[in-house]
Amino acid sequence: MNNDKELAINIANNINGHLGTNAETKKIPVGISNRHIHLSQFDLEILFGEGYQMSKLKDLKQPGQFAANETVCIAGPKGSIVLKEKAIIAKRHIHMAPEDAQIFNVTNGQKVCVAISGERKGILGEVVVRVNPNYSLEFHVDTDEANGMGLSSKDTVEISTLIL
Ligand SMILES: [Zn+2]
Repeated sequence: MNNDKELAINIANNINGHLGTNAETKKIPVGISNRHIHLSQFDLEILFGEGYQMSKLKDLKQPGQFAANETVCIAGPKGSIVLKEKAIIAKRHIHMAPEDAQIFNVTNGQKVCVAISGERKGILGEVVVRVNPNYSLEFHVDTDEANGMGLSSKDTVEISTLIL
């Protein structure tokens, strides 16, 4: 057995030991978003002008966050795209309040793996934990990834004790 594999198994066992019964049974609701972008007020004013406020298209589950009507065009060295549905995902992540973080024994910024059940079950790595008292427990993933894993917004996922 190579060292990397041994290390991975050790870490998995370690985490297994740390996760309590609550963590093993606690389900995380899934939130699926189209391509979107997080903009600070500073960025917003560069793009739209001083004092600009975005207009609300719909509220999102995370308190105080909403999808806006505005679209932005992103230009790269080889082309540009227009982001139509806008608001929040850079990298798949889990929102949780500090109490949930305690149950899962994770900290803000930590990366975890998420176990997905169902027909296309699997484990997704590189899921960033975002802890904030205003957050409600939700796993955010974009449309492409959700489709790939057969996930819908009615599904729940769990934090995996297996590490990729
Ligand atoms: Zn999010």
